[in-house]
Amino acid sequence: MIDQPYAYRHKELVEPDWQRLPGWAAVSPQEWASAQWQRAHCIKNIRQLRQVIGSGLDDRFYADLERDQAERATMSMLVPPQMINTMVPHLSPADPGFTDAFYADPVRRYMIPAFSDRRADWPSHPMASRDSLHEAEMWAVEGLTHRYPTKVLAELLPTCPQYCGHCTRMDLVGNPTPQVDKHKFALAREDRLTAMMEYLRGNPGVRDVVVSGGDVANLPWPRLESFVAGLLEIDNIRDIRLATKALMGLPQYWLTDEVRAGMERLAMVARQRDVSIAIHTHVNAAQSVTPLVAAAAKAMLDTGIRDVRNQGVLLRGTNDKTEQLLDLCFALLDDAKIMPYYFYMCDMIPGSEHWRLSLGQAQRLQHDIMGYLPGFATPRFICDVPYVGKRWVHQVARYDRELGISYWTKNYRTAVESGDALALEREYEYYDPIHLLPEAGQEYWRARVAAPVAVG
Ligand code: SF4
Repeated sequence: MIDQPYAYRHKELVEPDWQRLPGWAAVSPQEWASAQWQRAHCIKNIRQLRQVIGSGLDDRFYADLERDQAERATMSMLVPPQMINTMVPHLSPADPGFTDAFYADPVRRYMIPAFSDRRADWPSHPMASRDSLHEAEMWAVEGLTHRYPTKVLAELLPTCPQYCGHCTRMDLVGNPTPQVDKHKFALAREDRLTAMMEYLRGNPGVRDVVVSGGDVANLPWPRLESFVAGLLEIDNIRDIRLATKALMGLPQYWLTDEVRAGMERLAMVARQRDVSIAIHTHVNAAQSVTPLVAAAAKAMLDTGIRDVRNQGVLLRGTNDKTEQLLDLCFALLDDAKIMPYYFYMCDMIPGSEHWRLSLGQAQRLQHDIMGYLPGFATPRFICDVPYVGKRWVHQVARYDRELGISYWTKNYRTAVESGDALALEREYEYYDPIHLLPEAGQEYWRARVAAPVAVG
């Protein structure tokens, strides 16, 4: 055997025992398998977290969490039992070391952020912003982002069954927090969806629709089915992607008879019309891939849709090690039949500096996973550059590592630049976390913040 940096071993998927958690000690397998039970028992606040986990988790964590919710959080708390159960899967709260393990847990790190997780020096990058990808500026009609020439993103609704601490759409998605009021759609949902459909019917250049939110698992199934059925009637639409983290966070939903039967109907029509329907999910850690998640993914593939793919987000403390990423990819691929597709760099939203990696770190991780997975299942690492769009991390045009500024170019115009003759020649900037820069770079940013006009 040759000694390799990563040693592959097939690992059986495991559903952690939820009865180890005091609040769910009496929950039956039937209740656990029910999407309704899961939704009704989501953790929405510290009191509910305490009821489930109990005093095995030190008061210092609850206090730390409370401070984060008051002073930093951009997302309100919403964690389905399925996701709580994958945190610290090998320990019961009564076991020694549970609190430290909870603090260190990769899923907890992004789903239940604590104040002490965040950077004290630079909690936010000075260039961070709400709606950091400027999606709303590119709305063709409200909620329909037309950023690329042939594809659109349809944000059908602003809610999810689970709220991730680092959510890119923190501007729109979820409930307000003490720090962040959420943008509200002006149009009623039916009017928005009708306007989206009209726009798509009138734009034959669009062939690919990402149906998203939020999370499509929060739209009543009949409404989602009728929206997708409407897309299937538009001749030029050849790819439809349904975005749902709930395939992992609430797999019970995707296993319901209603959803399976409805997806079968859609898949049949899609096949007749040579259209590909795929589900895109969002899994960041191998421990999230359980037998229930695998069953949900395979149930969807059994309906006849084209694929189930994963778009994870690179997050410090969750998946910033090569081994964590490869473990995740193999867990997805081996037993859940989910295709590793993308890992995004975490976007520059407020409060995200402790999660974000530098471009150089992302390039290194991309390098280090090459050659272990089949080529077709080797995910691309992506920097979503404001006003540009997705770029593979090695496509950077220039990179100033001292100031942590990378420069990117683009090869198409959005509506925002329709009258901009230089749009395709200009360079667009993306910024590394300041705490990772050499001292000279950190000093540049300190000065720039202190005197933005003079130094910037
Ligand atoms: S599931 Fe997606 S849209 Fe919803 S909170 Fe998480 S990252 Fe945001």
